[in-house]
Amino acid sequence: MATGPENFKISEIFGECTFNLNVMKDKLPKQVFKKFLDIVEKGRKLDSDTADAVAHAMKEWALAKGATHYTHWFQPMTGLTAEKHDAFIQFDSDDPISVIERFSGSQLIQSEPDASSFPSGGMRSTFEARGYTAWDPTSPAFIIERGRGSILCIPSAFISYHGGVLDMKTPLLRSMEAISAAAIRVLKLFGSKSVYRVKAAVGAEQEYFLADEKFADKRLDIKICGRTLLGARPVKGQEMEDHYFGSIKDRVLDFMQEFEFELLKLSVPCKTRHNEVAPRQFEIAPIFEEANIAADHNQLLMETMKRIAKKHGFVALLAEKPFAYVNGSGKHCNWSLIDTDGNNLLEPGKTPEENLQFLVFLMASLMAVEKHGGLLRASIASAGNDHRLGANEAPPAIMSVFLGEMLSKILDQIESGKVKDVNEKSFLDMGISKLPKVSKDQTDRNRTSPLAFTGNKFEFRAVGSSSSISIPVAVLNSAVAEALHELASRIETLTKKSKNFDASVIEVVKAAIRGTKKVRFEGNNYSEQWLNEAAARSLPIARNTPEALKFWIDPKQNSCLTGLGILNEEEIESRYHICFEQYNKTIEIELATMIKMLSRQVLPSAYLYQKEIASSVESAVALRETLKDLSGINAKLKSAASEDFDIEPQVRFFKEYAGAVSKLQTALEQLRGIKNEITNEDDLVKKADLIVKKALPAMQAARTTADFLETVTDSDCWSLPTYSELLFWD
Ligand code: ADP
Ligand code: MG
Repeated sequence: MATGPENFKISEIFGECTFNLNVMKDKLPKQVFKKFLDIVEKGRKLDSDTADAVAHAMKEWALAKGATHYTHWFQPMTGLTAEKHDAFIQFDSDDPISVIERFSGSQLIQSEPDASSFPSGGMRSTFEARGYTAWDPTSPAFIIERGRGSILCIPSAFISYHGGVLDMKTPLLRSMEAISAAAIRVLKLFGSKSVYRVKAAVGAEQEYFLADEKFADKRLDIKICGRTLLGARPVKGQEMEDHYFGSIKDRVLDFMQEFEFELLKLSVPCKTRHNEVAPRQFEIAPIFEEANIAADHNQLLMETMKRIAKKHGFVALLAEKPFAYVNGSGKHCNWSLIDTDGNNLLEPGKTPEENLQFLVFLMASLMAVEKHGGLLRASIASAGNDHRLGANEAPPAIMSVFLGEMLSKILDQIESGKVKDVNEKSFLDMGISKLPKVSKDQTDRNRTSPLAFTGNKFEFRAVGSSSSISIPVAVLNSAVAEALHELASRIETLTKKSKNFDASVIEVVKAAIRGTKKVRFEGNNYSEQWLNEAAARSLPIARNTPEALKFWIDPKQNSCLTGLGILNEEEIESRYHICFEQYNKTIEIELATMIKMLSRQVLPSAYLYQKEIASSVESAVALRETLKDLSGINAKLKSAASEDFDIEPQVRFFKEYAGAVSKLQTALEQLRGIKNEITNEDDLVKKADLIVKKALPAMQAARTTADFLETVTDSDCWSLPTYSELLFWD
């Protein structure tokens, strides 16, 4: 029997808090369950009888688990999740002085949370604040056990009164439909009859840091911004690589076990945990799931992590770059396409026919990056991720694809039509199609690539650790769906003409190889040469978020969203505004936090120590004078007062210290001025421009001076916990 995180069997507690298909099968009448399966699996329309029956069973199940309230759980554009609890309460119509627990099908399907304060990017004015949440039956409802009563959470989409998309989930769900339809179209060309859906599968590896709460609580930057804005390089960082895959400390393991226990109950299939490269950096990876479920689960994972970390005296940091000088955190999104026959369409096949099909899906992925690399870049842009992208530890800000040596070779050979000089093992002459045998590439993977093909899936490595995966995955799905349609159309046209399907496909694949060459890059993405080469290949380069966000509104880049009905122009425009607003607000808050920390902690510490040095130097000078005066009287003191008594270095240090204090004081004044300038600018794009051109360099300069002072100030005077305290807490 599972009693708690100290003692449990995974298979017994898995899904204990989810109203999943197993529970539904058990609780629903057979016919209703069958109908529900059709809704989830085949996209059939939901009727009100089914909704009522599901609502009733869901309520009974939730009440038995101690739920008092329910909420439509949704993902507004803040990147977080939102909930507004309603009690299961209604006056009994037969006995109006008593209340009963009630929950109807219509309450399950839709709710109107008002929700006028969520970002809408201008799509909704406050006077027509209505936003609706609509049940997503494809993601199981779950129970959050908290406080005195549990809460039934119903995964939902969030839309405006006029049907405009206001959340992260709706575009993801639409993109999943789009890629399923496009993939099925291709599969049908290859003769498939049985496949009725293709699922975008995602496994998100989540990196994070744990800081000790007792030190983190004394840092305003960690509390407000979730990352440090100041802090000198610790004497030891990650250079020894002794943390990576190291043995997990008891205190951390305790946290991980409770954290995973909570997740497993919510059906999050936690699989892997390990120490990461930077000190006190960790990773958790669940088994991959269908994209929208993986997205819901990743949101739950991030929330649960923060909550359980607190119980263990930690602060979980999900920011992309919580500490300078050590690696930042990403969220590698592993992505593939799996059909209802259980085949992974990105898995190289065993027969030439299968391989031909594999190549079509592979080329569609390359075409997606070639055509919509800018949009993919925009989908992962955030103030936090800017610190990571392009640094020598994370994928660069340029979208390219790594395929590995063998696949690259095969594509080159198909393109050139030469098949002779391929080695036996990786190549098989198949007569008609002359198609190389493609097997899983065993070569080492390229960790510097933002999008790496890893044998049977793509790893989108540029996604930031704090980001919702919904938008990056929605963009990837949409871009690949568009490419699949394009390839299918070309294959159809050519086959009609030539009457030879295989030859037509090879022709189309060949053209696609030629057309997508510029996004293939096998080298070191961190190198300076790549930056130059990418520019020469005219790949979209965006060095920061404001530059990246412009791709949202570039019609060439966003055509896969508009063309497939994922988001319309107005919805894209609103997202563009929301992203700018979020970027600006994030940095404005960081700027305000830094000003406060410099004024109230760093400079007061520095002035205190400056006073100590001043008085120390002053007394040394006074002592020398006294000795000089006395030396005439006392011969013994004569030598002590001689020129050996050199206090110049002390004076020099004082000057240097006082100089740095003045410099920081001036920097603080400048930061205040810039802050006013930014506050007074109303235009979002101009505001972002001020941030990039003025605020960020000024913040960096102030930081350099503050960090210098930290390294030379008496630790008793320095009130701010240091990196060593934050990173090496045991
Ligand atoms: P790594 O060597 O990068 O750790 P893993 O095989 O452990 O690779 O996978 C990392 C993540 O990728 C996990 O979340 C895993 O479930 C997911 N993953 C594995 N296969 C697929 C697939 N076909 N599609 C999507 N995600 C996958
Ligand atoms: Mg990986």
